[in-house]
Amino acid sequence: MGFSLTAVDLVIKNGKIVTSSFIVEADIVVDQEKIVALTKEAHLPSADTIVDAKGKFVLPGMVDAHSHLHEPDVSKTDFITGTTAAAAGGWTTLLEMPISLPGVWNQEVFEARVKLAESKCLVDIGLYGGGGIQNVDRIEELAAAGAIGFKTFMNEPLESRAEEFIGLWVANSGQQFQVMREIAKTGLPNAVHSEDADLITVLTKELQEAGRMDPMAYIESRPNVTEALAVSKVRLLAQATRCRAHICHMHSSEGVKILMDAKAKEEQLTAETCPHYLVLTADDMEHYGGPHGTYVKCAPPVGSKEDIISLWRGLNNGAIDCIATDHSPFPHEQKETNIWDAASGIPAFQTTLPLLLTYGVNQGKIDLQQLVKVTSENAAKIFGLYPQKGEIQMGSDADFVIIDLKREATIEEQNLYTRGAYAVPYLGWKVKGLPTHTICRGTVIMEDGVVIEEKSGHGVLVRPTQPNTE
Ligand SMILES: [Zn+2]
Repeated sequence: MGFSLTAVDLVIKNGKIVTSSFIVEADIVVDQEKIVALTKEAHLPSADTIVDAKGKFVLPGMVDAHSHLHEPDVSKTDFITGTTAAAAGGWTTLLEMPISLPGVWNQEVFEARVKLAESKCLVDIGLYGGGGIQNVDRIEELAAAGAIGFKTFMNEPLESRAEEFIGLWVANSGQQFQVMREIAKTGLPNAVHSEDADLITVLTKELQEAGRMDPMAYIESRPNVTEALAVSKVRLLAQATRCRAHICHMHSSEGVKILMDAKAKEEQLTAETCPHYLVLTADDMEHYGGPHGTYVKCAPPVGSKEDIISLWRGLNNGAIDCIATDHSPFPHEQKETNIWDAASGIPAFQTTLPLLLTYGVNQGKIDLQQLVKVTSENAAKIFGLYPQKGEIQMGSDADFVIIDLKREATIEEQNLYTRGAYAVPYLGWKVKGLPTHTICRGTVIMEDGVVIEEKSGHGVLVRPTQPNTE
């Protein structure tokens, strides 16, 4: 078979292509942002750009189900520096959480955010809308505007952050039920931050009254039962309302058990975990937490060695659908204070894939095909983007991350695009396995760790094409 096209935009030669259904050595032909052929033919069309992937693996560009970019509050991160770090780390689609100024609670805010994002982002972006009691009558209009799903927090925010969280929270089970009942009508998923706020409030008060200020006190204020309670509640309410629920950043073995049970019964419940829960434990608050132990502070907190084992198991047996970054960098001044006041969050765009290749693939905890499922394919399916995203086949968007499993590096501040001002727990860690190229809709946006920053604005909004109502 010859090519009807004599000249195309991009050819990726000599790589081993990895999807969940095959690993094959073949060349990829790309034109007008789409994959037009996978081929072993000797005669390829001429191409404007040729990438030689010899000795490397070509995976679908990664899809992050849980990103924070925060703009216009640029004290934390913003669309340009955030998506630059994402490009460096192999992510080609980010699904952005709706915490902003204001929270993404109605169509007007959503549409303004699309404009801002498309003018700045280097990679593609989907936007969550808020799923809260304040905007329960705006859920339908957010779905019509193109929201990828809805995010819900199960507690009222601090008064100082009320504007950022407008339309993003419920205060009790009744309100959660009302919100899920509305979201169910859209067919879109409800992503829920699943920690039991009542229990955390009681335990935090006890620990603070006892004068505890050490990093472990924070861990003790959020034991695994807080996640188990919340996940159980979300699961039951999702069934009662026929809403598709997605558990955000699951971190405990208790959570994995509930998800396994739900999946065995074919309930509409999905879950993500995050890289920090796979490589850090509570003991690391001391080792990698910076001067106050706070660099490792995140919500929910990092767990135990047993939690790590069951999370890897859950990623392999399908209990956990995806690995999301929950990328949320904070400047040193918001981290370097006592454990209670320090901001919660860890930057993750650039470090996630090297950590997964080092501690997952190269240590035999997960194979490359399963890695593809949990870093791109499953998120694309859950959020209605498949097979446009998360797949390497004719007609899909030409989004790729090319990896070298043998390349080694040390995680150093000067090589991070989320740099300088931010607290990072992994500095000095040695990694083996790195992304060498990131390609978003046929455009090379990262090569050998260097992001082609003038491509900012290349990113476009992605919308769910087929709300998945299986
Ligand atoms: Zn988050």
